[in-house]
Amino acid sequence: MTKAATKRFKWVPFVIGLLVLNWIAAAAARGPQPRRVTLPYTTFVEQVTSANVVSISSRGATIEGTLKNKVTYPPKQGPIPSSTQKPVTASVFRTERPTFADDDLLQLLSDNNVTVDAEPIDRKISLWVQLLSGFGPTILLLGLMYFFVRRASAGAGLGGLNKSKADLYVPPEKPTTFASVAGIDEVVDDMREIVDFLKHPARYQELGGVIPKGVLLTGPPGTGKTLLARALAGEAEVPFFAAAASEFIEMIVGVGASRVRDLFEKARAAAPSIIFLDELDAIGRARGGPMSFGGHDEREQTLNQILTEMDGFTGNEGVIVVAATNRPEVLDPALLRPGRFDRRVSVNPPDINGREAILRIHTRKVPLGPDVDLRAIASITPGMVGADLRNLVNEAALRAARGHEKTVSSADLTDALERVQLGAERHIVMSLLERTQTAVHEAGHAIVGMTLPGADPVRKISIIPRGQALGVTFQSPDKDRYAMSESYLRGRITGALGGRVAEQLKFGEITTGAESDLATATAIARRMVSNWGMSDAIGPVTMASDDEQSPFEVSVVSEHSREVIDAEIRLLIDECEKNAHVLVSANEARLDLLVAALLEHETLSEADAYRIAKVERSE
Ligand code: ADP
Ligand code: ZN
Repeated sequence: MTKAATKRFKWVPFVIGLLVLNWIAAAAARGPQPRRVTLPYTTFVEQVTSANVVSISSRGATIEGTLKNKVTYPPKQGPIPSSTQKPVTASVFRTERPTFADDDLLQLLSDNNVTVDAEPIDRKISLWVQLLSGFGPTILLLGLMYFFVRRASAGAGLGGLNKSKADLYVPPEKPTTFASVAGIDEVVDDMREIVDFLKHPARYQELGGVIPKGVLLTGPPGTGKTLLARALAGEAEVPFFAAAASEFIEMIVGVGASRVRDLFEKARAAAPSIIFLDELDAIGRARGGPMSFGGHDEREQTLNQILTEMDGFTGNEGVIVVAATNRPEVLDPALLRPGRFDRRVSVNPPDINGREAILRIHTRKVPLGPDVDLRAIASITPGMVGADLRNLVNEAALRAARGHEKTVSSADLTDALERVQLGAERHIVMSLLERTQTAVHEAGHAIVGMTLPGADPVRKISIIPRGQALGVTFQSPDKDRYAMSESYLRGRITGALGGRVAEQLKFGEITTGAESDLATATAIARRMVSNWGMSDAIGPVTMASDDEQSPFEVSVVSEHSREVIDAEIRLLIDECEKNAHVLVSANEARLDLLVAALLEHETLSEADAYRIAKVERSE
């Protein structure tokens, strides 16, 4: 059974369990059933006439009752030794009155002082037990059916199920405000304007201004788009309805659209309010592309519904739709037409000042040690976004707590950074040979990084296994990089190949440790050739499909071009490998020094590495 299937049938024992429970509960409520002796009608009449019957009750032709003295039937040494029926001795009995029995039973009974009950004597079952045992299983099954239908369509289909799952943001005691957002000041200014729209709509309407209906936040994940939308609602003191666009797409066509309708309805009723649609690209992808099959109709209907709803706004509702995406380039142009998401705000990763400010926000409640310099942390975290920085602070706080420290120290933060960037240390035992191979490999990377002009400085070299890697050489730029030159990229490829080259030089063969380096080198080379026009044979045209996520993309790149691209990538990598070889061979003495130091200390800091290799740290 596949994993999915196992999961699917998990409910089977659950249902069986419920049915068994139902049965037990009903039986328990009914009470213990007395053992009954079944008498032939003639024997019963005998018992009545011999005044051994206390009371009876009847239902149809069945008569049940109690006896004064116990009776055994069939009699043990009776005239009819029955092999099929075991003798039963009991003071309660049951019998069947033949339909043709033309006797005056009632007279007979009253003559013998037998009480005739209206109810079955020992079946005084309360109403609810009867209902439970009678209808229980049915109710259970109906309930389950309802549950599964609901689950299968995840709230779709049958009446009342197509409500949107958007959660209404209940304003907490302290709503999110712009004070919790840092490092993206330009964006916050744009947002302040929108807050003003929401707070004083009349002022804008009097002047004939058109209040924006939709704001599209674009930017990489973790840059704070959701945070901004939430802060927007908090500042404007209006309700906030959030939904991820992917939630609208379900298996059943039409559900997405009806959920959108529902969401907008709720927001309109609560106006002024904000609707936040996360991952807009999940439904807002350009239509009619080569990807359009399967699940396509549903997406299109959902998208159309959003467009219809937004077009329906007169601008006086006070509902503003804020959407977020990290792939604005794949959005359907219809979404960006005037009157829809016509206000676009790009949220960029923070620069050093921004990172410092974000760190400050996330360390507000964290007791920091006296040695912590947030500016310094900001300077070694280029490329990290708000979510990463929050994660970093969290990781450092956990480390401090684990070490029973009272405050978070600088070491906690740098260690956390390594953990975040390089993965956690792995405790495996490596042989001396493996350790030497790893040391040579890492020293190779480091030598290229230290000696190649313009390369990112080496921050740390280590032969402690982390994540998937046996060792690591960590490099990062001094300043934030916004654009990368061709020579810098070639340097990156050269550095990635430095490990392999050093192994080749020292051992004459290479280990599998260089696998991810090759992948890195190839990935950079491919983008240089096909995206960035950095190859002479291809020239300044882009050969990349703009939608890497779709494997079904009909390639616009011809077979011939693809061969040329591959050849160019190979050429580029070959050149870089030669360059790496030249650098590493020319610095073999330095390499040996680094290897020896690594085998002894396992980890070398930036300062140690440059000192041991006797390389001047270029500024
Ligand atoms: P996105 O929606 O862009 O993927 P989020 O808003 O979900 O990013 O960010 C996740 C978390 O990261 C936020 O809740 C916040 O704690 C933190 N964060 C992200 N960007 C910032 C920022 N600019 N300032 C402060 N915190 C931020
Ligand atoms: Zn490597």
